[in-house]
Amino acid sequence: MRKPDGKIGWLMERVLVKKSAVAISLFFSCFTACGKPADTSVIDSEELESGESGHVDVEQYNVVLILTDTFRADHIGAYGYSRDTTPWFDTFAQDAVLFERATSQNAWTPASVSSLFTGLYTRSHGVITYIPFEATEGSVLKEEHVTIAELFSEAGYTTAALIKSPVPQVVSGYSQGFDSFEKVPGREAYEESGGDLADAAISWLSENLSSEKPSFLYLHFMEPHAPYIAPQPYHDQFDEGWDSDLQGTHAEVMAFRNGSAVATADDIGHLLSLYDGEIAYWDSQVQRIVEHIDSLGMSDDTIIAFVGDHGEQFNDHGDWLHGALYQENIHVPLVVRVPGVEGTRISEPVQMMDLGPTLAELCGVGAVDYWQARSLAAVFNGGSVPGEPIFYEYGTERGVRTAGGMKMLFEDGVYRLFDLNNDPGELVDLGEVPAYETVLTELKEIERTIFAESDEIAETLFGE
Ligand SMILES: [Zn+2]
Repeated sequence: MRKPDGKIGWLMERVLVKKSAVAISLFFSCFTACGKPADTSVIDSEELESGESGHVDVEQYNVVLILTDTFRADHIGAYGYSRDTTPWFDTFAQDAVLFERATSQNAWTPASVSSLFTGLYTRSHGVITYIPFEATEGSVLKEEHVTIAELFSEAGYTTAALIKSPVPQVVSGYSQGFDSFEKVPGREAYEESGGDLADAAISWLSENLSSEKPSFLYLHFMEPHAPYIAPQPYHDQFDEGWDSDLQGTHAEVMAFRNGSAVATADDIGHLLSLYDGEIAYWDSQVQRIVEHIDSLGMSDDTIIAFVGDHGEQFNDHGDWLHGALYQENIHVPLVVRVPGVEGTRISEPVQMMDLGPTLAELCGVGAVDYWQARSLAAVFNGGSVPGEPIFYEYGTERGVRTAGGMKMLFEDGVYRLFDLNNDPGELVDLGEVPAYETVLTELKEIERTIFAESDEIAETLFGE
């Protein structure tokens, strides 16, 4: 997929020719053998306090990046959930950096995964739809993009993707930078597929993780995406006492969504229990993968990162599945374990797409100046990240969230405003309240700035 002499050089050339205001530069570190420090410069205390990154220790770690589809942060024990859905993951997270307020950049897979791969908002990368096994305008991650996998590949990594989702496709450009990009065969994507994916991951890791070349492995789990049908005993684990005919099928949920059936409170509780059962099954499968990395003796050389692509709604704000930009759809887990880094929790809001630049900086594989995502690498050296606005989109809907907890949402042609600190359920729209007029004006200005920046990036990358 890559140009013979390297797409990155080609892209730089093209942008220079266009004399764009968007400056692009790429920095590549020199590397030593796997596991050895490539750059021993240490960030100084002033930089740590200011939250600046860019001088952290870099090492050519292996990277295992695990994306979990449709994963609400608030259904995970480590994020405060009351049910014991994730006993293994909660223990893992204690030794990792857990970002308490991570937001996905979109409420569905194609756009969200594209942001993760490119470090760009939807408006910039242009992936707004999904056509099965076809490449059409708006459904393709265009060749002009420099993906995270390409950075790792250029830096000498063996790169692979093992996925169960049907969305990221070779034909749609998602395989850029991956030496291998495989839709794992076996059970259907939406049913009990986690076991097949874990098997494939374990096999791949056995063959590659201990080799001289460092590894970058992307995994895409489909639990707990609908249908909410986990294998037993997980399917019934949280379901005791529910008297319902609902099985957790996609058709059942679609009937609630299109109004042909009306969900009772019991129905909602039942489906939430089945969704939680899927998460419990997921927990058992990712446990297998990480314990395998431990058994290979590679934990000290491997960064393991977990992230969700978006959440899921159970009639929270009148709709089902995913879409819309309320917290149940965009508050996702982001947990990263870096060897030698103590577990901690970060309360500043961050974006799920920040994970790409963070991994790139921790491993010293370079950066792209027009990234809208930012590296969070400083926090892995005890530093902090400044509270910057968070941006998210879904179709024509979009919004901005401030570090202080004010959240703007443009929905149905109306600007809404919520105070997440005092109203986490987003039940009280402050958009028409005079006392909040200034706040809303400021958030709209941030939106305008991000729109302008995004349009400039898109024009630079794709414009003629
Ligand atoms: Zn998804």
